[in-house]
Amino acid sequence: MAAADDGTWPLDFPTLYVVPDWIAQHCRLESVGGLVSEPQPFQMYDWQLRATASFYRVRPGATVGQLSTAFHYRRGQVIAPQKSGKGPWTAGITAAEGVGPVLFAGWAEGGERYDCRAHGCGCGWVYEYEAGEPMGRPWTKPLLQITATSEDQTDNVYRPLQAMIRNGPLGELMKVGEQFIRLPNDGRIDVVTSSAQSRLGNPITFAVQDETGIWTEGNKMTKVATTQRRGLAGMSGRSLETTNGWDPSENSVAQRTAESKVKDVYRFHRLPPGGLSYANKVERRKIHRHVYAGSTHIDLDAIEGEAAELMEKEPAEAERFFGNRIVAGTGTWLHRDRWDERARPQEIPDGTVVVLGFDGSDIDDWTAIRAETLDGYQFTPTYSSLALPTIWDPAEWGGQVPRLEVHAAVDELMRRHQVVRMYCDPPYWSSEVDAWEERYGERRVTRWYTTRIVQMHAACERLLTDVTKADSTFAHDGCEDTSAHVGHARKAARTADRYVLRKAAPHQKIDLAVVSILAHEAAGDAIAAGQARPKAPRRTTVIR
Ligand SMILES: [Zn+2]
Repeated sequence: MAAADDGTWPLDFPTLYVVPDWIAQHCRLESVGGLVSEPQPFQMYDWQLRATASFYRVRPGATVGQLSTAFHYRRGQVIAPQKSGKGPWTAGITAAEGVGPVLFAGWAEGGERYDCRAHGCGCGWVYEYEAGEPMGRPWTKPLLQITATSEDQTDNVYRPLQAMIRNGPLGELMKVGEQFIRLPNDGRIDVVTSSAQSRLGNPITFAVQDETGIWTEGNKMTKVATTQRRGLAGMSGRSLETTNGWDPSENSVAQRTAESKVKDVYRFHRLPPGGLSYANKVERRKIHRHVYAGSTHIDLDAIEGEAAELMEKEPAEAERFFGNRIVAGTGTWLHRDRWDERARPQEIPDGTVVVLGFDGSDIDDWTAIRAETLDGYQFTPTYSSLALPTIWDPAEWGGQVPRLEVHAAVDELMRRHQVVRMYCDPPYWSSEVDAWEERYGERRVTRWYTTRIVQMHAACERLLTDVTKADSTFAHDGCEDTSAHVGHARKAARTADRYVLRKAAPHQKIDLAVVSILAHEAAGDAIAAGQARPKAPRRTTVIR
């Protein structure tokens, strides 16, 4: 595991000090803490300056013409608590990567100057290098991407960046458009999420990867990170991850970076002193004082207020967000590893006796169908000539679940297989479930409300037992989305001894876990009702 800079590493190496000075001159921060004031030059906190100096650390043997290879680090990762100033800092670095002196341009003899006028900026700023200091120059054609799990999330960096451009001299070099920021020489800064597949493989010179602690296989962001790094390698560009602490049970991009053994990734992570309990109010305060040290705009009383409130519902999340620690969520329902161990993909021929589980949503959560055979094999069926999986993420369908697609899929499954039962969670889909009842018969289509605590608890336990019990023959298709959703599910206690499921974090989906539970419940009920027995063969009457 690559060691992290905990704020005590000596800063005794050559670096592009022209970069933080350029940022202070060109990037203005709007008021913080709710005070109305003129936008102020961005004077970095100590930790921001430390991370900047480290990211732009130049190798002693660097030669003119080298791009990423002139630097000590190929990429960086900054782990810092909520509201400590990651967003504005990343925006400042992005502005510099766009039009500032971020590339190595040789070693100064002393007295050389970086003069803004030579780079199309009329602000009049001049930086004089000292002897032996590495000098900087901008990219000729800068191509940048700000990347996050959603448009909302990209705003963490894009908004302060827009404000910086609006409030200072950058407007001369950077033009904020509807879709992207235009830079000199056809350069640009794009905002991308996992749905921007077309742009993701593009060659780029710099990428911000924001909140990589929630970039997982499940939301397809692992692939985004890999694709983006390929695009960077082609241009000899570099990238920067920023994140809160993560849940170590999720194998996020942030976690993989942190656990990687490579030496050319800079990591900044100020962990609180060991031995302090986050559950204890006094010790929690000490933790905050440590991890927010130097973020002078922070009101630790306000942080304590938010942390204490989140502690009531999501103690692990509070400790990650505000305590900067890596802690697993509590209340795990079914360990993802245990679920994954049951993967034994197989082909299910048409005409097989199966049951279906269905959970429908509208605009945010996913809609999905899982099927199970009566000998305990669960899978995500496919439909249409394209063999599409019966999983609909509204984000991939223009923001809304495509109801006609779902209808078509149900219809096809009913024709292709002998569906003996289909359990449907009705909210948002009441009229559709009515229609299915009518068309396929109410003996087959059953409304199954997952809000019923007694029944839902029992169904959760039934699947849990059949996945974890040694002598169970339950198996599944290894569907990646289902595995991720199982990993996101947490127990939410409803009474002393009963629980239903909830999400580990608001952005994490669990719909496929719910659908698996419904399918498995339907299978169990079908077997109990004798529907697993083969239909009686036609008898030949024997006359004696
Ligand atoms: Zn300037």
